Amino acid sequence: MTAKTLAQAVSCLDDYDPNALSVEGACRIIAECVSPVAASERVAVRTALGRTLSEDIISTIDVPSQDNSAMDGYAVRHADLVPDAPTRLQQIGTAYAGCPFTGKLAPKTCVRIMTGAVMPAGTDTVVIQEIVETDGERVTIPPGQEKGQNRRLAGEDLERGKPVLKRGQWVRPAELGLMASLGIAEVAVYRRLRVAFFSTGDELVSVGTPLAEGQVYDSNRYTLYGMLARLGCEFLDMGVVRDDPKGLETALRAASDSADVIITSGGVSVGEADFIRELLAKLGDVVFWKVAMRPGRPMAFGRVGNAFFFGLPGNPVAVMVTFYQFVRNALLGMMGREESALPLLRARSAGRLRKKPGRTEYQRGILTRDADGEWSVHLTGAQGSGILRSMSEANCFIVLHHDQGTVNPGDLVSVQLMDGLA
Ligand code: AMP
Ligand code: MG
Repeated sequence: MTAKTLAQAVSCLDDYDPNALSVEGACRIIAECVSPVAASERVAVRTALGRTLSEDIISTIDVPSQDNSAMDGYAVRHADLVPDAPTRLQQIGTAYAGCPFTGKLAPKTCVRIMTGAVMPAGTDTVVIQEIVETDGERVTIPPGQEKGQNRRLAGEDLERGKPVLKRGQWVRPAELGLMASLGIAEVAVYRRLRVAFFSTGDELVSVGTPLAEGQVYDSNRYTLYGMLARLGCEFLDMGVVRDDPKGLETALRAASDSADVIITSGGVSVGEADFIRELLAKLGDVVFWKVAMRPGRPMAFGRVGNAFFFGLPGNPVAVMVTFYQFVRNALLGMMGREESALPLLRARSAGRLRKKPGRTEYQRGILTRDADGEWSVHLTGAQGSGILRSMSEANCFIVLHHDQGTVNPGDLVSVQLMDGLA
């Protein structure tokens, strides 16, 4: 998919209304505007952990490279076995993993074989040692053995010439192992995203300074730092910027010179947006939205210079919710990741959840397993968008969909786990 301009992306939604945009609509517009960063770099396989492949990985070998045994036992020629009676065979050697048996098998002979050892020429079946009777080199195989059993075929894991991993694949521990099993030492990944962020608000002070009356500590830069670090972004923390046009303009210009993405918090709510609106109209192409969601209604999105711009609301919970629902996906898209939506699971609601149709809600929930083994979810307590403790206590979002109304105890609801195998 080629990236669209903001105007093109917006025109694709038939019912686009910036003052009543659904979460899905906002996600679609953002997804259509972003595209992977062009540059990639070659890194050692271990360094690729958490990054995204920018090339397909084609297997240059078969894995395993030869047929081998899946069990400890005896490698036999299935044609030698009597179907409905025990078969006597002569053991003529042993095959170890890493030390194959190189001799030839005459009819009615077999080779003792260890797990992972290459199948001796002519053998096709492994009989596990537990069911075999031995008397010196005389081996008795019971009837009923299936041809090919307990044998791993060459290339059954990875086949030479076939793509093993595709561009856009997130590199997790399994992919590291898979690449190592192909003997790959270096791999091409998209370069890291550079994200600049700052907080706006005259009431904000940074950690380390005593609080005067009416001031609050800036916590958004800390949650943003954490969320960006977990995604593996490079970041530029630009501190607190006062609510004045000069300072904001300087900060936005500096950020757009050095970053792929700019994230701000605060200053997009109705009372505050006016001068920011004018400033962003001068510096770039940004739309202001009222998204039909809770928490997190006001939000701005667009471009400032060459950077994408996300103007998130100021309330601490709203920052995290809008980051997870909009920014995360966009950043992963720019990192080249295919398939990055957080999965929605279903769980029983322990209590009643008040909800009005017409907006998507992200309530903070605790998912627990009941005595009967079923998963149920309950609220963390007060759900105000300034109550950051609700995020800390939660292990999931309870996602109440746009058209959904009040939930009754025992109803199934959608939940989004906050932590995965990242
Ligand atoms: P705003 O969106 O700027 O109107 O801010 C909404 C609320 O969030 C206000 O109560 C702000 O004090 C608070 N707030 C804004 N930015 C931050 C921040 N960086 N850290 C903590 N609280 C904030
Ligand atoms: Mg403010």
